[in-house]
Amino acid sequence: MAAHPDDVDFGLAGTVATWTDAGIDVTYCIVTNGDAGGSDPTVSRADMVVLRQAEQIAAAKCVGVSDVRFLGYPDGRVEASLDLRRDIARVIRQVKPDRVACQSPERNYARMPASHPDHRAAGSAALDAVYPDARNPFAFPELAEEGLAAWIVPEVWISGSPQPTHYVDITATFDRKIAALRAHESQTAHMANLPEMLRGWLSRAAALGGLPEGRLAESFQVLDIP
Ligand SMILES: [Zn+2]
Repeated sequence: MAAHPDDVDFGLAGTVATWTDAGIDVTYCIVTNGDAGGSDPTVSRADMVVLRQAEQIAAAKCVGVSDVRFLGYPDGRVEASLDLRRDIARVIRQVKPDRVACQSPERNYARMPASHPDHRAAGSAALDAVYPDARNPFAFPELAEEGLAAWIVPEVWISGSPQPTHYVDITATFDRKIAALRAHESQTAHMANLPEMLRGWLSRAAALGGLPEGRLAESFQVLDIP
């Protein structure tokens, strides 16, 4: 669950690869089409939607994910609205996940790009969709009318949280994370130092998580929701 195409890849593609390697099915649900992304004024916004969806689908393949869903909200104007909560709750009831990963609704002053307003709004709506919307059979009755039964998600992993509690060693899947990020060509083609930049972030996370020198990690705040 993420606001923009490429958010999943910056935040947790390495972890996703460890999950798919373990045989876990992963679905991506992207709130916007990233139509406010890129810096080329000659690309129309409609073309940007097509491009960024295709890039996200290609990036997902790099880490073993083939189910990618777009909710089509406008990039740059995401709010934690009732409509968004219902639309995320719908996907949860369709997919029936054991775990949801989302962005942090909290502003992380140490990592402002992670705290983009769309990320905070998407994270807030995702948490509300997990609890209580998806599990309460009387929330959004239109979902029950669509034949979607209530679903309890017992675990949430928050990416970009100011209070990480869990560190995943992604040293073995780092190359696939970089491949996934490179698939977002309209966003990362100009970043010659992308692997070095990521190595810097991920080795700092690994050190914070107490992993041995030379390891790379993605960090999460993991919530158990009984
Ligand atoms: Zn983003």
